[in-house]
Amino acid sequence: MRIAIVGAGIGGLTAALALRRADHEVHVYEQARVLREVGAGVAISPNAVRVLHHIGLADALARVAVAPISMDSRDWHSGDLLGRVPLGEAAVERWGAPFYHLHRADLHDALRAALGDAHLTLGARCTSVAERDGAVEIRFADGREAVADVVVGADGVHSVVRDYVAGPDRAVWSRQVSWRGLAPASAGEALDLERRHHSFWGPHKQFVAFFVSSGRFVNWVGNTQSEEDWLAESWSARGERDEVLALFADWHPQVRGLIAATESVYQWALFDRPPLSSWTRGRVTLLGDAAHPMLPYMAQGASQSIEDACALARCLTVHRHAPAAGIEAYAAGRMDRTARVQGASREASRTVRLMDPAEVEARNARLRESPEAPIARFDWIWSHDEVGAKTLEPVRSLLGSLNHVSITVRDLDDAMRFFGPFLAFLGYDLVESLSDPNGQRLHVNANRHNGAVLNVWEAKPELAAHPFEVYEVGLHHIAFNTDTREQVDEACALVTRLGARVLDGPADFPYDPQGWYAVYFLGPDGLKFEVVHQPSKVRAWRAKR
Ligand SMILES: Cc1cc2nc3c(=O)[nH]c(=O)nc-3n(C[C@H](O)[C@H](O)[C@H](O)COP(=O)(O)OP(=O)(O)OC[C@H]3O[C@@H](n4cnc5c(N)ncnc54)[C@H](O)[C@@H]3O)c2cc1C
Repeated sequence: MRIAIVGAGIGGLTAALALRRADHEVHVYEQARVLREVGAGVAISPNAVRVLHHIGLADALARVAVAPISMDSRDWHSGDLLGRVPLGEAAVERWGAPFYHLHRADLHDALRAALGDAHLTLGARCTSVAERDGAVEIRFADGREAVADVVVGADGVHSVVRDYVAGPDRAVWSRQVSWRGLAPASAGEALDLERRHHSFWGPHKQFVAFFVSSGRFVNWVGNTQSEEDWLAESWSARGERDEVLALFADWHPQVRGLIAATESVYQWALFDRPPLSSWTRGRVTLLGDAAHPMLPYMAQGASQSIEDACALARCLTVHRHAPAAGIEAYAAGRMDRTARVQGASREASRTVRLMDPAEVEARNARLRESPEAPIARFDWIWSHDEVGAKTLEPVRSLLGSLNHVSITVRDLDDAMRFFGPFLAFLGYDLVESLSDPNGQRLHVNANRHNGAVLNVWEAKPELAAHPFEVYEVGLHHIAFNTDTREQVDEACALVTRLGARVLDGPADFPYDPQGWYAVYFLGPDGLKFEVVHQPSKVRAWRAKR
C-alpha cells in the first residue's frame, strides 16, 4: 500500500514515522522549500509522549525536553497560586509517561531525523487530490503529480485536502491573537521563574510561560482579544514588543520581565472550526489540525495529532489489504475524542480569560477551595492510551455484544501486556489463569457489565512457529462465539470487512437456535477467524460461571 501524506508538520511527520515503523511505504509532501519549525515552544502531554516513546523517540526527546515540576494556574496580577497539577515524576506515576516542554524545532528535528529524508519531498504544494480507478492522484502547484493508494491530509488548519473531503469552508476567526516569544533562560532565572508550566489567568487575557530546549530558553505565549478583521494566519507575522508590553502593562512582574527580555515577538491569529461530520472520502482522510483545529487553551492540538498518527498506523496495519476500511476505522476511532477535546478547548478559552472582574474573583475563590480541581480537567485527556488500544479497534462494538470470544496468541504474557489496557477499557477483568490438560495456557476474562467471557489462549508450540502476525502481537486466531443469527451475520460481515475470505463452512446455513455452525476464514497476514454459533454451549458455560 502506497501512503502519501500532505504536510510535514508535527502530525504529518509523526504519522509517517509510525507508518514506516509498521513497514508501510510512505511519502510526505511539504509545501515549504526548507523544513523549519518556528521558534516557539509546545507542551506535549503524557498521552502523546507515550506515542512518541513507542515510535522510538524516547532518547531523542529526553535530550532536549524539559519536564516541568507542575502546571500552575496563577493570578494575573499578584502571581498567587490558584491551582496546581503535580507533574515531573508524579506525571509518570499517574499517566504512565512524562509531561514535556519542547522547542518545536527540537521535536520537528527529532521526527525528521528518525524518518529520514528519503521519505520527504519539499517544495511540493498540493493544489488538489482526486480519486481515480482505485488510486488517488495528487497535483502540485508546479505541475508535478503523484499517485498513492491512500492520501492523508495533514496540511494544517487551512487544509486543501480537507476541501476535497468535506467541501470548502472557511476557518472561523476567533478574534483571539497569540503573541509568542522566546526569552533567554537567564531572564527567567533573574525573575525567579521556576521550572513549572506557569499559566497566568486574567480578565480578558492569559499568559503562559515555560522553559524549553534543555532549559536554554523560556517560551511564552500571551493570548489576547482582538477587534480587528484578520485575513491571514501566519507564524512569521512579526509583532511589536512594545505593543505586547502595553497589552500586559499591569500584569505580574515575571510576565512583563519575560516580554521585555525578548528580542523577536511573533503573532498568530487563532482560528477554530466546528467538528466535521466525516473525516474521510474514499481513500482520502485527514489528520491533526486539518481534521480538528482547536484553540490552544488545553494545549492539545499537537498532542491530538500525535494520537491520530498512532491510530492511523494501527488501523492501516490491521487493514493492510483494505485501505478504505483502514481509514474508515481510523476516523471512527478518533472523531468523538477529538471533538470532545475541541469542545473542552473552547470552554477553557472562556474560563482562563473571563471578562468580568467579579466572575474572575468567583472563579479564583472556587479554585482556592479545591486546588486539585485542575487535575480533573486534564485527567481524561492525559490518561488516554492510544498505544495500548493498538489493535482490534474494528471489533470493539462486536466484542461488546458477544457472549464469548476466544483469541489465540503467540505469547500469552506478551499479549496480555498488549491487550490488558484494551480489555480493561472494554470492561473485562482477568478472572482466572489456567492450563488445560495439554498444558496450553489460558487467561479467562469476564466482562463486568454483561458477564461475557473473553479467553486468551497461548498457541500450541507447533502453531507458534507459524508466521501469523498482526501488528505487534503474534495474534493467530479470533473466534466469535455467537448467540443469535444477527450476531452470526454481524461477525461474518466484520471479518469480511477485515479482508478475510471464507476457507471452509457453508455460505449460508439453516438457522437452528440450538444448533452448531461454524465458518472459518483466512484473513490478511494469515490471521484465522472463526464465527461459531453454539448458543447451548455458551449458555452452559455462562451458567457454570
Ligand atoms: C499559540 C498556540 C499554542 C499552541 N500550543 C500547543 C501546545 O502547547 N501543545 C499542543 O499540543 N498544541 C499546541 N498548539 C497547537 C499545535 O501547534 C497544532 O495543533 C499542531 O502544530 C498541528 O500540527 P499539524 O501537523 O496538524 O499542522 P501544522 O503544524 O499546521 O502543519 C501543517 C503542515 O502542512 C504544510 N502544508 C500546508 N498546506 C500544504 C499544501 N497545500 N501542500 C503541502 N504542504 C502543506 C504546512 O507548511 C505545514 O508544514 C498551539 C497552537 C497555537 C496557535
